[in-house]
Amino acid sequence: MSDHLSRLDAINYYTATKKYDVQYPRLVQDIEADVVVIGGGFSGINTALELAEAGITNIVVLEGRHLGYGGTGRNGGQVMAGIGHDINAVSKHVGEEGMKALFQISSLGAGILRDRVAKYGIDADVHRGYGYLASNRRQERTLRKWEKEFRAAEPDEDIALVSGAEVQQVVGSDRYCAALKHMGGGHVHSLNLLLGEAQALVGHGARIFENSQVVSVEYGDRITVRTNAGSVRASKLLWACDSFLNRLEPSIYARTIETYSFQIATEPLPDETIRRISPICGAYSDIAPVINYFRTTAEHRLLFGSATRWLEYFPKDYATWSRKLMLEVFPYLKDVRIDFAWGGPMACSANLFPQIGTLEGRPNAFFVQGYSGFGVTPSHIVCKVLAEGMSEGSARYDLMSAIPHIDIIAKDRFRPAILSGAKIWHQVAGFFNGRR
Ligand SMILES: Cc1cc2nc3c(=O)[nH]c(=O)nc-3n(C[C@H](O)[C@H](O)[C@H](O)COP(=O)(O)OP(=O)(O)OC[C@H]3O[C@@H](n4cnc5c(N)ncnc54)[C@H](O)[C@@H]3O)c2cc1C
Repeated sequence: MSDHLSRLDAINYYTATKKYDVQYPRLVQDIEADVVVIGGGFSGINTALELAEAGITNIVVLEGRHLGYGGTGRNGGQVMAGIGHDINAVSKHVGEEGMKALFQISSLGAGILRDRVAKYGIDADVHRGYGYLASNRRQERTLRKWEKEFRAAEPDEDIALVSGAEVQQVVGSDRYCAALKHMGGGHVHSLNLLLGEAQALVGHGARIFENSQVVSVEYGDRITVRTNAGSVRASKLLWACDSFLNRLEPSIYARTIETYSFQIATEPLPDETIRRISPICGAYSDIAPVINYFRTTAEHRLLFGSATRWLEYFPKDYATWSRKLMLEVFPYLKDVRIDFAWGGPMACSANLFPQIGTLEGRPNAFFVQGYSGFGVTPSHIVCKVLAEGMSEGSARYDLMSAIPHIDIIAKDRFRPAILSGAKIWHQVAGFFNGRR
């Protein structure tokens, strides 16, 4: 493993504040199931839980490392509105009626997440309150458009755009000229959420195995999935490995490319500092082509994350690199200690929209991937739709699974160059689409 990747495995805020001390066994036998799921992140566990709630409980989840090893245990915990960075990117594939259905789907994720937490009593620090931030008039105009769209999708939600001095009532930074407050969004301790969801899944009778890396799959009416120590034979398979798939199923591996995001968590801060940073104790992101995102935590830390702006590279020292960005937004935190610094890959699709469907010619082999750095809320609705497709079928599964995906050619060989090109393109386009 390269130095960069081993640094990505450093202990992070989530592993250090995990509330569920659960381990699942390694698969060391040959077993049968109705459904086998590969990958123990939000996608694998949420889809399995949806199936179990619908009565399909003979499910096996195989996780190569530990639950939440992937993006699910490394992210910003930001509960944002929508699915896909720009839903209009798929309009040409779904038509007018399809767009209406997608808009409806896209507003459901946060509600599912909160209902699940309530239903199973999950201890995941769910908090309401989100701010989308503009640092110039062009971005403010974009937020005004979003305000109308958000209100149309969720008319009963507390959604309001503020500008000028009032911005300080949403976020304590001089950097922003406008803020769109959306109290339907917020933040969550994503690892605790996942572990609570996994416990709920096991409560329905499903089996989870950790340290059980899948090494091969034989397709057919019954699919056999092998690890080095055991196997599962099942009627249906779900690939839910996102950015950790690593060529094991080349046909879907080709459809995304991994870019990296980096984060820090400060030491716990005094109450008055937290109230100054965030009067709503919420989560935030600006709306630049590559966003800064940050949030407060239950222990009064500030989590702050971002990614490289124009070129794709690994900063030498994640903590110093991220701290510099944090101080641009909150200069008054200059004496604050950084307790954790970490990062992780995010599988991006070409249109930045999540992908679901079946492998070509294999109607019982499903997949989900490509949230493009925006998977906490979306995985909760996308996996509900996917579970419908894996069981009795549904119109919204047909709609989402029919959206075509393109291969990203030579992604392994030219990954940094492809991503740098894409970032430059998005940065320049940002002048025209109101994101810069
Ligand atoms: C640094 C960072 C910050 C982010 N911030 C946010 C945010 O604030 N808000 C937001 O909405 N989204 C965010 N995201 C994105 C979000 O976390 C992901 O989209 C989401 O967690 C993906 O979930 P998943 O289950 O599809 O994949 P993962 O959580 O990556 O899970 C895939 C799992 O598959 C396992 N696996 C892979 N291969 C095998 C195999 N052969 N056998 C067995 N198991 C295997 C892996 O070990 C892994 O645990 C962020 C991502 C990162 C990396």
